Amino acid sequence: MNLYEFQGKQVFKDHGIPVPRGITLTDPDAKKVEDAPMPCVVKAQVLTGGRGKAGGIALCDTVDEAREAARRILGMDIKGHTVGKVLLEAQLDIERELYLAVLLDRSARDVLVMASAEGGVDIESVADDDILQLHVDPLTGITDDQVRKLTRFLALSGESAAELETVLRGLYETFTEEDCELCEVNPLAVTAEGLVAADAKVTVDDNALFRHDWTPPKEERTELEQKARDKGIAFIQLDGHIGVIANGAGLTMATLDALTHYGGAGGVFLDLGGTDDPEQVKEAVLLMKEADPSVVLINLFGGITKTDTVARGILQVLESEGLDQPVVARIKGRNEKKAKALLKDAGFVAVSDLKEAAERTVEIDRKERGVD
Ligand code: GDP
Ligand code: MN
Repeated sequence: MNLYEFQGKQVFKDHGIPVPRGITLTDPDAKKVEDAPMPCVVKAQVLTGGRGKAGGIALCDTVDEAREAARRILGMDIKGHTVGKVLLEAQLDIERELYLAVLLDRSARDVLVMASAEGGVDIESVADDDILQLHVDPLTGITDDQVRKLTRFLALSGESAAELETVLRGLYETFTEEDCELCEVNPLAVTAEGLVAADAKVTVDDNALFRHDWTPPKEERTELEQKARDKGIAFIQLDGHIGVIANGAGLTMATLDALTHYGGAGGVFLDLGGTDDPEQVKEAVLLMKEADPSVVLINLFGGITKTDTVARGILQVLESEGLDQPVVARIKGRNEKKAKALLKDAGFVAVSDLKEAAERTVEIDRKERGVD
């Protein structure tokens, strides 16, 4: 689970890392605005990066400006995330921006410290030579030698070197005590008042959530997704136009990959799981109908589930409710012959090969939408 910046900064503070003073706000007209330190920076609280570029960060000198900025940023859409809260905190006079992170290195089976003097930008865009990586033995923790390597790499000395040690040890303590997968500070700001964590990205291990009392953020869903969820159906809307119905999460993902591979794009996917319960299948098809895709690709694999039972369920709904879209079915496994015969009789394309099914689907999608 990812924590919001304001939550991450709270834990950082609890572990001795300097963070700017600030308040959070959900209503721009709240009196609380007056408690914000001035000049301040108003920051959208969303679980995605690049807020600055998206207009979700504003530097303000007065309470009125801050209120105006909060009004503009609250409700804003940043990469599909709606801003429900803003953080107003003391503006920093930043001299240099550093990058510092402590994360889990699964392949090395240890903890990794990553640092760069090129902070404030996406770490993926920083050249390898400009990133220092230190593997920390979980049994010994961070050694004095590693602290020295880090301060030298970031060209810090005297007071700042001592502060960096405090931040690094605080970050490592946060990582271990809060059961994290990632604790990232980008940028770690060098200011006249010392080092300050200007941003916080913290991912906590879901398996350890029971040991802490974080409330999981409300997931953002479309209206149809919420409807599906209320009915216990796994249903996700995407950017493309092709509807996918499959049984099992892995098969659904593989189907989307196959469509992408052949030049198509999934628009909505629906995972029937292991069910062949006619009521559940009916609800699923009705949701698909409402999503209005260009073509529907049904990909069924029968292990325990009988593919002909699922196919019959789908056909019944299609007949009673009517679906205007063309349907391509790929059936494999238990009773596949029966299932294919049923679908072919109903006028659908029914094949056993995923490649063929994906190619046919992409072709139909293009034709339906009039693109070549
Ligand atoms: P992100 O873009 O979503 O990662 O948001 P950040 O919190 O990292 O902020 C983006 C950039 O805004 C930082 O790299 C800084 O350059 C700038 N910024 C953030 N807070 C302050 C501040 O208090 N003072 C100044 N001068 N710049 C800030
Ligand atoms: Mn950042």
